[in-house]
Amino acid sequence: MSTILFDQIIFGPISSRRLGSSLGVNLLPRHGKICSFDCLYCECGFNADGRGDNRMPTKEEFIDALFSKLKEIKASNGRIDTITFSGNGEPTLHPAFPEIIAETLKMRRALFPLAKVSVLTNGSRIHIPEIRETLLSVDNAIIKLDSAFDSTVNQIDRPQYRYSVEETKKNLEPYKGKFVLQTMFLRGEYEGIAIDNTTPEEVAAWRKIAIEIEPREIMIYTIDRETPAKNLIKVSVEEMEQIAGPLKELGFKITISG
Ligand code: SF4
Repeated sequence: MSTILFDQIIFGPISSRRLGSSLGVNLLPRHGKICSFDCLYCECGFNADGRGDNRMPTKEEFIDALFSKLKEIKASNGRIDTITFSGNGEPTLHPAFPEIIAETLKMRRALFPLAKVSVLTNGSRIHIPEIRETLLSVDNAIIKLDSAFDSTVNQIDRPQYRYSVEETKKNLEPYKGKFVLQTMFLRGEYEGIAIDNTTPEEVAAWRKIAIEIEPREIMIYTIDRETPAKNLIKVSVEEMEQIAGPLKELGFKITISG
């Protein structure tokens, strides 16, 4: 597997295409991957390749790691735009996720009050009241929706449970105007079946659902690094501009990363 696992609880800061100087947090195992999706494009590899290690850091280990790193960056006059929860899988699966975010907000206030706290989530747990409250407490709840069609989500993102876009739409109601919608555009082929969420039908349905779910902001992007499925193709920035165009005209704030 040539994809990369984050082998620390805290990594970076790295210069992110979308988030600026981003201090990353990995609440998942350091030598394994745990996710409720199994995306063809996941930079951490397929779930099956990352099953060697199941141990998530404890809340105390996380607090120690983040506090030391923030102090170190502060002492060297470093800059952080965002503290970003992503890592080797789905961060909301950590059993202490709500407490961990509460502690992060406290440390941010004390040491880097201008930094944002962002969580990248696949949206599989946004309906759980405690998770919802937690995601609504951070600056950027960045929630993935790669297609308005169940069949395409099942093909590209491969949720490990019975997935429904309609259900996700319902679960997003409380987030209206408060979350960042994140969509990966790509095409290619996997196991002999064509993959493409950029067809006119896909794009029209995606724009429609984006209007209905009312994100505060939209981030669209394409493949950047090596992916576990080998025959996936990047979409050009020009094409993503065209996809985003009509929504931009409606006033949506959209960032595009190619
Ligand atoms: S949701 Fe994110 S972490 Fe999970 S498989 Fe997809 S890209 Fe990887």
